[in-house]
Amino acid sequence: MKPIYLDHGATTPMRPEVVEVMRPYFSDVFGNASSIHGFGQKARKDLEEARKSVAENIGADFKEIFFTSGGTESDNLAVQGVVHTRKGHKGHVVTSSIEHPAVLNTCRYLEQQGYKVDYLPVDADGLVDPEAVQATLRPDTVLVSIMLANNEVGTIQPIREIGEMTKAQGIPLHTDAVQAVGKIPVKVDDLNVDLLSVSAHKIYGPKGVGLLYVNQNTPFTPLFYGGHHEQGYRPGTENMAGVIGLVKAMELAETERDNFFANMNHLRSLLEAGILEKVKNVQFNGHAEKRLPNVSNISFHSVDGEMLLYVLDGKKIAVSTGAACSSGTTEVSHVLTAMGLSPELAGGSLRFSLGRLSSESDILYVLNVLPDVIADLRK
Ligand code: PLP
Repeated sequence: MKPIYLDHGATTPMRPEVVEVMRPYFSDVFGNASSIHGFGQKARKDLEEARKSVAENIGADFKEIFFTSGGTESDNLAVQGVVHTRKGHKGHVVTSSIEHPAVLNTCRYLEQQGYKVDYLPVDADGLVDPEAVQATLRPDTVLVSIMLANNEVGTIQPIREIGEMTKAQGIPLHTDAVQAVGKIPVKVDDLNVDLLSVSAHKIYGPKGVGLLYVNQNTPFTPLFYGGHHEQGYRPGTENMAGVIGLVKAMELAETERDNFFANMNHLRSLLEAGILEKVKNVQFNGHAEKRLPNVSNISFHSVDGEMLLYVLDGKKIAVSTGAACSSGTTEVSHVLTAMGLSPELAGGSLRFSLGRLSSESDILYVLNVLPDVIADLRK
């Protein structure tokens, strides 16, 4: 039997269409986009077309797109790139307690450097309250960074409302849209954001490439120094194959977004209804409606989530415990505990994240296997 992969929040398989468009950039089209000769000019032309395409995809100007090595780098560049513009002044940063470690640990690092950071709480559904953001802003606040959709429970934050508040006070707003792209509309103006992170490998593109959108009026400095690539904000010879793959992945994700949403919603409802019917003492985590369509985070009372994950893996079902996608660790999820779950319940939670090739038969197989596995572990 073919293993069933339900861990698309961790990464996704590359689409054949993406592999296809990348292929020439590993061989024939190898020029350095900074070279003057024809080889270089071909690469430069393709790079700039790629930039225009992704800019259009998220409603930005091409000058506002900086290609990076992925979500982690984009988040670091966003947060550090903005706060470091205030030379000699250690300002105040607002973020949430459920961010991905790429933002959370960057903020912790900033605290060690003398910055003040507020980590806003979330409610039981994992939502940040825009009023709480407003109440936390100070005259010296230099940045607000709140993710668009959470990677563990899928809850979608009220970024547009938060953006109205930050805009009114002239404070830059960054959002990590790594999990949201391809699942919900992501247009920078509608969201009222000044910086936005994207990663290709969550949307059937290659690993190790992403982008950061930075509004032209947002003060910003690079994280490291080198040549003039990416307007000097992200030096280093461009990963042409990766960029071309990212563009194709974003294009396909956007074209198919409505279908994907409906299909994922249908499969997830099948999964959740089946689990509710067949397994006692379960709790679904995340907002009922304001949630990514492909994520289902479920707590199983009196079960060790890690053990459950191993047993399911033995039965050819790949899922994750909340925190593992970001770190490979087995720590109790900071997201679930921030939502008020006890460490025991949080430790008994699994994330099922469905993907474009998931099928009803995959879900039915899970529903066949899971109840007995849970019953055994509870014995
Ligand atoms: N942000 C979120 C919300 C994520 O889910 C991830 C991936 O786990 C990242 C950032 C990091 O992205 P990357 O793996 O491209 O560095």
